[in-house]
This record gives sequence, structure tokens and C-alpha cells, in this order.
Amino acid sequence: MKFCIRDDDTNYYTGPSVLESVFGSIWDDVPITLACIPMISPDSDALVKPTESLPMPIGENEELVSYLNDRLRDGSVELALHGYHHDAPNGDPEFVSGERLAEKVKDGRDQLESAFESTIQLFAPPHVRLSNKGVRAVQNAGLDIVRGYGPRPREGQLHPKWWASYAKFLAFYARYRKEFRYPFPIDYGTHREVYSHRLNRQTDLDWCKRAFDYIESKDGVFCLSVHAHGLNQTGQKKLEEMVSYAKQHDPDFVTASAAIAEFNP
Ligand SMILES: [Zn+2]
Repeated sequence: MKFCIRDDDTNYYTGPSVLESVFGSIWDDVPITLACIPMISPDSDALVKPTESLPMPIGENEELVSYLNDRLRDGSVELALHGYHHDAPNGDPEFVSGERLAEKVKDGRDQLESAFESTIQLFAPPHVRLSNKGVRAVQNAGLDIVRGYGPRPREGQLHPKWWASYAKFLAFYARYRKEFRYPFPIDYGTHREVYSHRLNRQTDLDWCKRAFDYIESKDGVFCLSVHAHGLNQTGQKKLEEMVSYAKQHDPDFVTASAAIAEFNP
């Protein structure tokens, strides 16, 4: 099986110390997929205390850029795209009701790729939500998607592979409902997706370990989703416990994009 960790919301206001304190003892063994907000909006709900009145490009945080480029060279992180402004136009998530989503994907990716020594292959939807047009914007850019939990019917795609993949997904959902996540990356023909398991201070670790065991029994991909910004001591302990639980089972520790790319059903 493969094990990966995804962290959301790294942005212009992120200090390296937050990432260092949460992942410093982890990312030498387990690479972290950091889903970055390229142009955080002052009204974003991504746990920031904005000091600027305009959207701010992540590349202008020089300390963060230099720090993450070092981590990229070490192989301790990969970067993914996490929306653009991470705001809620008309009260809905950005990639549900936002406008100009294709441009946002393109510009957001360009910003990350020019600031950091990295290519972007993955999109993590802000607020864990995507509409049909959100999915189209992402897949047309050639990116794969790392999801949270999403039992509702997936966005339909006009691709023959979509039907077969979707049928498998529905059969899984009918059997396990909210108990487990689909254990494998799903290839929809247009793009690939993998599901993740949210970990915060409220997470029931027994459930998380059962979910891990289930995915191990299927030799699938277990992706843990965390938010370093909002993780308190209890959450940090749970993260460390989950990582040490995983280590006892000796999975391949990989980035989320490698988990998708290297998966052979
Ligand atoms: Zn977010």
C-alpha cells in the first residue's frame, strides 16, 4: 500500500515555522503534499490574519519561498494547487461558484511554478468542493485531484472510462457509506482522483486506524489530510500517532501525485 499526507492552505501569510513545527519530525520519512493558495484574498477564510487589503501572491513571501525550495530539494515536500483566492464568492466555495476558473487554474499554477522549483500536477479543491465547471477547469489543465470525502454523485464526464469508474465508486459507496474512503485512485479518463482522510483534534483515531487497515487489506492508497495552521497540540499528537501507526505497517511513503501516478490496479 501507499501512504501520503496532504496539507492545505499554505499561502502568502504562512510562516515557515508553522510548517516546521508540524512536519519537521515527519517529512524526512513521509513527504508532505502542500496544497498552496497562490493568491490569497483578504477575505479568505483560510485561517489568515490579513495585513494587506489586496490578494497577495505566495511568491512574495520570500522567506517561505526560500524555505520551501530547500524542502523541495530535500524531497520532503511536493506542491499542489489549492484554489486561487480561497474565497467564497456569493457564499459558495471558489471552485463551485467562482468565475474564470480556467484562468485561475492556469495563473495559479504559473505562479507556483515560477516561484518554486516545482511542477504542479495536483489540485486540492478549496473547501473540499468542486462543481462541474470546477472539475472541467482542473482537468483541462491536465491536473489530477485529491479529494476529501465526497459521497454525492460525481460530476459527469463525457468519457467512456467515466461510466466504469463511476459504477465502481457507487458500488463502493452503497456498501460502505461513510465508513471508509474509496481505497484506490480513480481514473475517470479525463483525470484521476484520490480520496483523503481528514485528521484534526476531533478525529476519532480508532476510525482512522480502521480506515488504514481497510486500505492496507486492499493494497490501496491511504491519504491523510491535515491543516498545519489549525492543528493544536491534540491534533499534532494524533498526526504523530497516525504516522507511527503507519510506520508499523511499512507502506510506501510517497507524495500524493506519486501515489496516483504509480498506482497500478
Ligand atoms: Zn483550504
